[in-house]
Amino acid sequence: MKKIAVLILVVTLLPFCLVGCGGKDEKRNFYSIEAVFNDDDMTLTCSQSVEYVNTSENILTEVDFFLYPNSFAEGQTPVPSSYKASAYPNGESFGCMEMESVKVTGQSAEFVVEEEDKSILVVYLGKELYPDEVVEIEMEYTVSLANINHRLGYGEKTVNFGTFFPIACVYENGFVRNGFSSSGDPFYSDISNFEVKLSFPEEYVLASTGNQEVQSDGTVLCEAENVRDFAFVLSKEFELLSKETNGVTVNYYYYKDENAEENLEISCEAVETFEDLFGQYPYKQLSVVRTNFCFGGMEYPNLVMISDSITDKETYNYVIVHEIAHQWWYGVVGNNEYTDAWVDEGLTEYSTALFFEENEKYGLDYDVVMKNALNGYKKFVEIYSSVLGEVDESMQRDLSEFLTEPEYVNCTYTKGMLLFDSLRDTLGKQKFEKCLKNYYKEYKFENSSYEKLVKSFSKSANRDLENFFASWVEGNVKIA
Ligand SMILES: [Zn+2]
Repeated sequence: MKKIAVLILVVTLLPFCLVGCGGKDEKRNFYSIEAVFNDDDMTLTCSQSVEYVNTSENILTEVDFFLYPNSFAEGQTPVPSSYKASAYPNGESFGCMEMESVKVTGQSAEFVVEEEDKSILVVYLGKELYPDEVVEIEMEYTVSLANINHRLGYGEKTVNFGTFFPIACVYENGFVRNGFSSSGDPFYSDISNFEVKLSFPEEYVLASTGNQEVQSDGTVLCEAENVRDFAFVLSKEFELLSKETNGVTVNYYYYKDENAEENLEISCEAVETFEDLFGQYPYKQLSVVRTNFCFGGMEYPNLVMISDSITDKETYNYVIVHEIAHQWWYGVVGNNEYTDAWVDEGLTEYSTALFFEENEKYGLDYDVVMKNALNGYKKFVEIYSSVLGEVDESMQRDLSEFLTEPEYVNCTYTKGMLLFDSLRDTLGKQKFEKCLKNYYKEYKFENSSYEKLVKSFSKSANRDLENFFASWVEGNVKIA
C-alpha cells in the first residue's frame, strides 16, 4: 500500500501443482470460487471450494481463515481506514460477510467465527489431517459491500473486490491470526492457485488477477497460478489500454484520465526496471487500475489499485511505481504485513527510489528523494519528541502497536527506505544488487520475514549484517 501523506513525497482443475511451480517442489492450496455480483443490493454471493494442503509438520483438526469483509462491519474497531473523510463518499456505510454453510469433504461441518472483531473463521475438520494430506472445504457465503472508497467496497465509479473471500491463515506453530487495522495492510497468506468464475451485469468491465476467459454463458473465468491473493474491480466506465513488454501484457484500466498513455508507459517501464534489478515477473499480465480509493493505492497479485483522488502527476507516477514494486515485495516474495510491515513496505519504497534513479527522465533525483526522506523523518522525530517527550522509532512492531498514522508511515516506509540506502552505501552498489536478486530468488513464492531477510542478505554480502539491521530496526541508530 502507498500512503501519500508522507513527507518524502516530492513528489484442474489441477488441485495444486506438485513440481514446477517456480522450480520448487511445493504443494499449493487451490481455491475455486463462483461469485455472482448483484448491483441492486451491492452483494456478492459466493460458492467456494478450497483444497487445503497441510504443509505443516503437525496433525491438524481445524483450518483457520481470515475474513477481511468483516473489517467493514458496523461498530468495528479499528475502523477500516484512518482516512475516514475521503473513505466515505456518502457518510458512514457498513459491510460484512454472512457465512451460510461449510462442508468438509462433502459433509456438513462445524464452524465458528472467532475473535471479538469476527476476523477469523475456524472450520473443524472432524478428522485428523496429516502432513501433506489434502482436504476439501466448501463454503457458501454472501459479502455485503459498504459504500466506501477502499480495497473492498463501492464508490462512484468502481466496485472494488480486494480479499473478498475467506483466505486461509498461514500456519507457523499454529495458524497466524492477524487482526484488522486502520493503518497498513493486515494481510498474510500463502502462495496458492485460483480459479474464479465471475458473473456480473453486462454493462460492467472487469479488471482482475490472473488470465480471463469469457465463457459461453457470459461469465468470466479467471485463472491464476502461484499468487497469494485474488482481487478484481468492476466499473461501467472503464477504458482499457494495453501494451506488451518482456512478454507481460500490461493493462491500464481508467476513466477520466488525460494522461492514460503516459500512465501505461511508466507502468511498463516499472516492470522492465524491476525485472532488471530483482528478477523476472513470473506472470503473463499486470493490471494497473484506477479506482475510487481513499488514499494512494493498494497492491494485489497481478493487479494494483491506484486512487483517482491523486491530483498531481508526480504523485500518481510515484504511486504506480510503488504499487508495481510490491509485485516483487509482497506478491512473489511474501511476508506477514501485520508483524513485519517494514520488510515489504521499506523495500518497496526503496525500490521506487531505485526506479527513479534508473529512469532519469522523470526528474526525480535519487539523492533528492533520500534527502527529503531524511528531512521528513527528522521532522517527525523532532515533532513527536517535543509533543510526547519521546518517540518510539522501532520498526519491527505489529500494526496495532503504531499509535498514529505518521508513526507507522515514518517507521516502516521512510526509515525502511533510509535503511536500504545506508546498506547500499555500506556494501557498494554491486554487492547490494546481488543481495536483492538473491533474496528474490531465494524466497520466490515463499514467505520471508525480518530474520530471513537478514540471513539472506548476510549470505549474499558474505558478511554478518545482523547488527547493522538491528541498529536500524530496533531504533538505536542515530539518523543524521
Ligand atoms: Zn506499499
